[in-house]
Amino acid sequence: MRKYSQLKTKVIAGPCALESKEQLDDTVKSLKELGVEYVRASLWKPRTAPGWEGYCFYGLPMLFEGTLPQDMIPCTEILTQIHAQMVIDSFKLCRIKNPKALVWNGSRNQNHFMLRMMAEVLSKGPPELEFMFKNQLWLDQKHWYGMYQHITEAGFPKERLISCHRGFNPGYGENPRKLRNIPEFKMAMEMKEKMGIRMFLDPSHIGGERQKVLEIIEESLEYDFDGYIIEVHPNVDNALTDIAQQLTFAQLEQVLKMIQAKETKK
Ligand code: PEP
Ligand code: MN
Repeated sequence: MRKYSQLKTKVIAGPCALESKEQLDDTVKSLKELGVEYVRASLWKPRTAPGWEGYCFYGLPMLFEGTLPQDMIPCTEILTQIHAQMVIDSFKLCRIKNPKALVWNGSRNQNHFMLRMMAEVLSKGPPELEFMFKNQLWLDQKHWYGMYQHITEAGFPKERLISCHRGFNPGYGENPRKLRNIPEFKMAMEMKEKMGIRMFLDPSHIGGERQKVLEIIEESLEYDFDGYIIEVHPNVDNALTDIAQQLTFAQLEQVLKMIQAKETKK
């Protein structure tokens, strides 16, 4: 059995953005050794400031061929319903029946209408496709719940729907720890209860720096998160995006150990 494959808490891990085939191969190899099956690799990369914008649709075959034949689960961000359709069409072209895959919608590029259209397209996708939506940038519980309502009304099933807390933009408010985004763990738990779906945490975009990412994960263990999406990079000092916050694989193992300790204490 692979090291941490028995964990109940799901961990999605991998680079902020897909950068090359070598980077993907190295990531998959390390994740396999750790027993993590969900491979994060963003193809479309919305950025705060221009830079590496991602492989876009051109990276779809690279991502799927590098993960699916090895029983790994590719995970990538989508920004529009056209991206959703491209992901679904690529499965057909790869001749993979009912692939396991996960797509998510980030915070920085989000609105209810777009989300609803994405959900409509995804609801006609393969039966094992999971969809994760992150909370919006600003603190507003009603807006967050509205996203859930739009997605489920559009026909995407709750069993395959996940929400993800990635903190709220600090704006000019207090931020003594200088976090990239401010977590509201209790609110996330309330939302989990209210929506009745799984709630993941994105500590990478909350912490913003490696050490803080680890601290946020440790603090979150008091709460009942069903999973994590964590940025990890095989060559952290040369990452093309989010260079300060991507963990090393040794640090990811530290995280998996912490989660394991929590689960065995229960
Ligand atoms: C991401 O997951 O890569 C990302 C940018 O997330 P967010 O839009 O939530 O900041
Ligand atoms: Mn990132």
